[in-house]
Amino acid sequence: MAGSPPDPYACRLCDAALGDTWWETPMGERVCLRHTGPSCRSCAVPGADADGLCPRCARTAVVTQDGVKALLPRIRTGLHELGLRLTTPVRVRLVSTGEMVAMSGEPAGTVTGCTMSIDAEVVDLAIVAGLPAPQFGAVVAHECMHAWMVQRGFGIVAPPIAEGLSQFASDGWLGRQRDPRARLLREAIAQDPDPVYGDGFRQIKAAVRRHGFLPVLRTVRAEGRLP
Ligand SMILES: [Zn+2]
Ligand SMILES: [Zn+2]
Ligand SMILES: [Zn+2]
Repeated sequence: MAGSPPDPYACRLCDAALGDTWWETPMGERVCLRHTGPSCRSCAVPGADADGLCPRCARTAVVTQDGVKALLPRIRTGLHELGLRLTTPVRVRLVSTGEMVAMSGEPAGTVTGCTMSIDAEVVDLAIVAGLPAPQFGAVVAHECMHAWMVQRGFGIVAPPIAEGLSQFASDGWLGRQRDPRARLLREAIAQDPDPVYGDGFRQIKAAVRRHGFLPVLRTVRAEGRLP
């Protein structure tokens, strides 16, 4: 995914010459017609494994605490650029799908991150193991926005505002990434039909366009509503 630009006439999966016909993924990557099977849920090339990832994305999936450590500085820098600084750094802990189901009470695969807090103290951020790097960063950015609100005493915020702000932080972080998979994740956030996450994000985006990010945060904190 880095280095010299790929040859547009070669298959991205096997390097064979493409000839006259090929598949083109939503990311604009071309692959030979002989590659079949389910699409990778991260980059959309055919040939995903049981976890829904192609071998290329599976290689960059965050599965160990060392993998977390390697990515966190970059995620933190991106959040600082958005004006989000946590008063106390929080721990990011990888959990299994089973642990996440137990914590969230939601079916497997639906919740990828969770902010654990007691009053104004964030205990830790739990992120499900096995997410490809850009998605991992997006989920950490989302949870950091929740943690930021907890640490600044926002109290209880209506779900579309709280989740909308967190999706806005994800989107802002993704917008600073060069990884082409970040674009697909941004499209998914923008087009999410969910009334809490999707509508919430679009409401926040419109409010930020009118007033700016920090004034929106100030009004939400003081009045529990959007300006
Ligand atoms: Zn090929
Ligand atoms: Zn992939
Ligand atoms: Zn959330």
